Amino acid sequence: MSDDICPHVVSAGSYLLEMLSPEETAEFRQHSRHCLHCQREIVALMPGALFLQELRADILAANRRLCAERPVLSTVAAREPWWGPACQA
Ligand SMILES: [Zn+2]
Repeated sequence: MSDDICPHVVSAGSYLLEMLSPEETAEFRQHSRHCLHCQREIVALMPGALFLQELRADILAANRRLCAERPVLSTVAAREPWWGPACQA
């Protein structure tokens, strides 16, 4: 038993934020079933990932509804580079 961290833990964040391709998602899900490192990473990242997902949904919803107005989450949106251009399209 080695203490080396599994190289796949870096995928946990992307997996939780659904930023992986369908193939990568299936692969990581399969892998994490048997990997304690990745399971631990998922548990550690879960609260933040859920928060970010809600935030993203809020921003996207605000983007659709209030495109001409200032976003409600302007302080957060200002740090997200992908927020602006969609609105100007
Ligand atoms: Zn792993």
